[in-house]
Amino acid sequence: MADRSLRGMRLGGQSLQSEEGVVFSPRMTHTYLCSTCGKETEMVFSAEAEAPETWECKFCSNEAILMIGSEPMILDRAEAKVPRSHWDMLLERRTRAELEELLQERLDYLRARRGQQKIGA
Ligand SMILES: [Zn+2]
Repeated sequence: MADRSLRGMRLGGQSLQSEEGVVFSPRMTHTYLCSTCGKETEMVFSAEAEAPETWECKFCSNEAILMIGSEPMILDRAEAKVPRSHWDMLLERRTRAELEELLQERLDYLRARRGQQKIGA
């Protein structure tokens, strides 16, 4: 019984090994829509690689934009703004003084809790 289950495991290992030799890198077709001539250019990239946002149109050599589903992706290069962090957004809603007050409250709360735990233990 024990011998049979061991043999089964060994067989499983072998079948995995033989599959490894057949593995090919997955590929994805991305479509680029040309805003100049309105034609689509299809490009095949490795599925692991991130597709470029734009590609040269096959038909008129102008810039074609990567399609996400049925819509070309929105490029906001014109603004070229640095992506906002959570911290930036927080600062827009609250002043720094308010944040420091909140932080102090939170620290006091944590210290109080830690103190309570010490007493408890
Ligand atoms: Zn074109």
